[in-house]
Amino acid sequence: MEACAFDSYLTQIAELTRNQCARVLALLKPAVDQGRTAAVIEAAVAPTLCCPRCQGKQLYRHGTRNGLQRFRCRACGRTFNSLTGTPLARLRHKEKWLDFSECMLDSRTVRKAAARVEVAKNTSLRWRHRFLKLTKADRTACINGIAEADETFLLESQKGARNLQRPARRRGGKASKRGISKEQVCILVARDRSGGTVDFVTGRGPVTVVQLKEHLGPVLAPDTLLVTDANQAYQAFARQQGISHEYVNVSAGEHTRGAVHVQNVSGYHSRFHKWLRRFNGVATRYLPNYLGWLWAIDQERIRSPEILLRTAIGVFNT
Ligand SMILES: [Zn+2]
Repeated sequence: MEACAFDSYLTQIAELTRNQCARVLALLKPAVDQGRTAAVIEAAVAPTLCCPRCQGKQLYRHGTRNGLQRFRCRACGRTFNSLTGTPLARLRHKEKWLDFSECMLDSRTVRKAAARVEVAKNTSLRWRHRFLKLTKADRTACINGIAEADETFLLESQKGARNLQRPARRRGGKASKRGISKEQVCILVARDRSGGTVDFVTGRGPVTVVQLKEHLGPVLAPDTLLVTDANQAYQAFARQQGISHEYVNVSAGEHTRGAVHVQNVSGYHSRFHKWLRRFNGVATRYLPNYLGWLWAIDQERIRSPEILLRTAIGVFNT
């Protein structure tokens, strides 16, 4: 709209009835919210923006679509926007993304988030896992100092799978065997005393030395003191890696010996189990996403919908 036409249009706003004002607001809200989302995304990506095909940095502006600036690469001609190549590319309804991020920070269920932002339940589920795909990778590369490591277990779940590889179990069912069996999925968590946390879904049954090497090997700094329970796999792992190791014999009633304890990681396990209950069972294949979700919100590490939106497109620590 021309500037002077717009000015005269604005003068009429003062004469709107209360009802008309509400209608104008309702009409403007999606555009305003889409603009907020786009602003967060474009500001996050701007410092590293380049062509997804050739990494070229010379870009032309090439119109806007769905609230996002499009660019055209001068070198190769590819057009793209700030979401190209991210898990959020081509998702619709950007005007709802910040509200949806808020639902994620509040750990709302699929159903409640869907009702809150007014999308279908399937959309709510799809968005959840798209938002978590990169957010779960927002980790410290290395854990240092005293590193507690311990496993926790969940009953394996093929929720949502089309072909069950075993007889169906009722929701919240119990394992048919006592103790840790192949029906249980092992989650390995390591946590240092500054709160740095890594987690791995190692597979069914107890954790093995090979799995410890594969997962913990690359993330433990060489001068780490590894603290665990008396599980012998850790002792063999530490010996083979040449890492200092202390353990508490929890099953014999020993819980702490000075700084030697696994209470931080146990606390994290309990928060995970307690938090997970609201979801009424999650599919094992999605467990890494749920672990990443807890890591995002635990002790308010991610505090705002804007930050969550940035981590969802892989922009961390800004
Ligand atoms: Zn290019």
